[in-house]
Amino acid sequence: MNNSNSLIASKDDIESFLMNLMSIDSTTGKEWILGNLIKEFLEDEGFNVTIQPLPSETNRFNILATWSPYIPPGPRILFNTHLDTVPPYIPPTKNEENIYGRGANDAKGQIASQIFAIRKIIKEMPALASNLGLLFVVGEENRHDGMKVRYTEKNG
Ligand SMILES: [Zn+2]
Repeated sequence: MNNSNSLIASKDDIESFLMNLMSIDSTTGKEWILGNLIKEFLEDEGFNVTIQPLPSETNRFNILATWSPYIPPGPRILFNTHLDTVPPYIPPTKNEENIYGRGANDAKGQIASQIFAIRKIIKEMPALASNLGLLFVVGEENRHDGMKVRYTEKNG
């Protein structure tokens, strides 16, 4: 366990978890810092994590996390969203009711919700666990380059 990973430190508090996701600039093209943090977090949680770099920009990568080891065609239930946000980066703020800033809704709210949901399902409905996965892609906000790579790869 690496407590320098802010996501691991906030794993039981979805508000803090979301604020930590939003505190990292992952504007399209700059997804790798957030990607590495999420990859490390998911591995710490016990997921099997596969990264899929873009052939043209290998520092940018999709994240596929499954509870059971990944065997094509993969899990039957896949939660999908994206790592990138539109520019410019706006750091997170909050009040008693809302969280504001880039990615609060599109799409770091989804990342936080999907991660917390899948962990709850695995814990409470373990029979489903082997059929669950997360797919977080890069480049959704402009050219969809992450998703294009995901579904053109052999055995995708
Ligand atoms: Zn979007």
